[in-house]
Amino acid sequence: MKTQVLIVGGGVVGLSAALFLLEQGITPLLVERHAGTSVHPRARGFDTRTMELYRELQLSETIREAGKALAPAWGILTGSSLASVLKGVKPGKKKSPEKVLGSEGLARLSPESATRCTQDISEPVLLNAIKERGMQVAFHTELISFTQGEEGVTALVRNRDTNEEQTIHASYMIAADGAKSPVREQLQATTSGRGAIADLLNIYFEADLAEFVRGREFSLLIIKTKGLLASINNSNRWVFHLHYDPANKPEDVTAILKEVIGLPEINIRIISILPWQPTVKVVNEMQHGRVFLSGDAAHVMTPYGGKGANTGIQDVHNLAWKLAAVINGLASSALLQTYDRERQPVGLHNAIASGEWADKYGIIQRKFSNIFDIVQAVIRARIAYSLGLHRLGHRLEMKRVAGLTGLPDYKYQSVKQYRKATTLTGETGTRMPHMWVTEKTSTLDFLGKEFVLFTQNDHAWKTDLPIKICSVLKEDIAILVRPDGFILWRSDVHKDSFEKAFKQYTQTPSALYSL
Ligand SMILES: Cc1cc2nc3c(=O)[nH]c(=O)nc-3n(C[C@H](O)[C@H](O)[C@H](O)COP(=O)(O)OP(=O)(O)OC[C@H]3O[C@@H](n4cnc5c(N)ncnc54)[C@H](O)[C@@H]3O)c2cc1C
Repeated sequence: MKTQVLIVGGGVVGLSAALFLLEQGITPLLVERHAGTSVHPRARGFDTRTMELYRELQLSETIREAGKALAPAWGILTGSSLASVLKGVKPGKKKSPEKVLGSEGLARLSPESATRCTQDISEPVLLNAIKERGMQVAFHTELISFTQGEEGVTALVRNRDTNEEQTIHASYMIAADGAKSPVREQLQATTSGRGAIADLLNIYFEADLAEFVRGREFSLLIIKTKGLLASINNSNRWVFHLHYDPANKPEDVTAILKEVIGLPEINIRIISILPWQPTVKVVNEMQHGRVFLSGDAAHVMTPYGGKGANTGIQDVHNLAWKLAAVINGLASSALLQTYDRERQPVGLHNAIASGEWADKYGIIQRKFSNIFDIVQAVIRARIAYSLGLHRLGHRLEMKRVAGLTGLPDYKYQSVKQYRKATTLTGETGTRMPHMWVTEKTSTLDFLGKEFVLFTQNDHAWKTDLPIKICSVLKEDIAILVRPDGFILWRSDVHKDSFEKAFKQYTQTPSALYSL
C-alpha cells in the first residue's frame, strides 16, 4: 500500500493532523491501535489558538456546542471537601473568565475564544469531519515497526481483529502515538525535562451532583496533599486525581471519593481508574529524517496550564502545510526542517511551565507570585487602555496574560529558540493580526490553505506565484502570510521583494525573517 503521509495514532493530534492535511489536498493514511476514539474525557479544553485552527476547518462552533455542558466550569477552589468549600458559595450566574480576569482587550485579538470540550466528545467531532471529507481511519490497526530511507518510510502494520499484517510505503510519517510513543522509542530520540513528578490515580466516576453545583460550577478543587477533583460535565461525571503510593494502592476508592465530595449518602459509580504520572519530557529533535514526532509523542507535559493537547494540535497545523508544499513541489525539503526549529522550543517552553504549576504530589498549586503578576499586569493594562495608551496595554497583556488564554504569544525565528512575542500587530514571525473585515469575517478567515499577501490595494501587487492577494488592509503596507497564519515578510516597498521573499523562503527557509 502506498501513501504520501502515514499518521500513526488517532488521538486528538492524529485526527487533527488528518484534517489539516485534507485541507491542503493531501489524503493521509491514519492507523489507530484502539477500536475507536477516546472513551476517557482526558484534556478538557481548547485554547484560543486551537479554536482559530478549528475555525479554519469550520468546526469551532460544532466543538463549542458539543462541549457546552462543561462551559461554566471555571475557577480553582481549595479545601478539604467539595461540600465544605461550596457551603459558603451562593449560587449565581457565572462570569466569563475574560470578565473575571478583566482581559477584554485580549478578546479583541482573536475571532475565537478558548472553549471547554473533553476529548471523548471532541474526538468524535473530528472523526466525523474526516469521514465527511471522504477519508476513512484504520481503527484497530497497530504500527508494529518501520524503517526509513532516501525514498520514504516503510511501515509494518497489523489489523488487531484479523491479525493480518500489511506493509505501507509512505513518503513521510507523522508520529502522533502519544506519551509512550513506540515510534519515539524505536527512533531512540533523546529527551529533556525533569521526568515524572509523582504518581496519581485518575479516577473517572459518576455521581449526580447537578443540583448541588448548579450556579456554583468550578473547574478544579484542590484537596491539598491528597488530590484534585475536576468537573467533566458539571452534572454527573467527574474525575478525581488521587495522589498515591504504587507500592500501597488504596483499597476503597469509593470511600475516598465520598470524603472528597463530603456528602456521605451520595451514590458513586466508578467508570475507570488509570494510573498516570504528571511528567515533563520533551524530545530534543521533532524531525528524524522523514518521521515527525508530534503531540504527546514529542512533549509530555502536566495538564496544568491546559497546553498538552493544544500544543500538539498546533504542531501538526505547523507541519501539514509544509508537507503539502514539499509533496506538491512548491518548496524544497529544507522547509520541513523549520518544523523542529519552530515547534520544539514551544513544546519545551509549555512543558516546563506545566511542571512549574505542579507541587511535589503532582497536584496543581496556586502560586501567589504568578497570580499577583497576572493581576498586576491586567490592572496596569486597563489603566493604559483608559489613558488611550493602547500599545502599552497590548504589550502588558501579551507579556503576562495572552499565553494563558492561548493566544500565540511566541514568535518564530530562524534559530531554534523560544522567543516571546511582545505584540500581535504584524511583526514577522508572529501570528497575523485579527481584524474584522466584515461583521463576521476575520483576516484569519483568509488563511489556512495557501500563502496570502494582505495589502490595501491589489492592483499594485499582481503575481504569477501561488499567492492569494487579499486587499483588506486600511494602511498602505503589505504583509505576506504563510498558510498557517504566521507572517513571513512585511513591507511597504515594491512587489519584487515579496516575490523574492516567497522564493527564498520556499527554497532556503533558513533565510526567513532575516529578509
Ligand atoms: C488519563 C489522562 C488524563 C488526561 N487529562 C488531561 C487534562 O485534564 N488536561 C490536558 O491538557 N491533558 C490531559 N491529558 C493529556 C492529553 O490527553 C494529551 O496531551 C493529548 O491526548 C495528546 O494527544 P495525542 O494525540 O498526542 O496523544 P493521545 O491522545 O495519547 O493519542 C495517541 C494515540 O496513538 C495510539 N497509538 C499508540 N501507539 C500506536 C501504534 N503503535 N499504532 C497505532 N496507534 C497507536 C493510541 O492508541 C492513542 O489513541 C490526559 C491524558 C491522560 C492519559
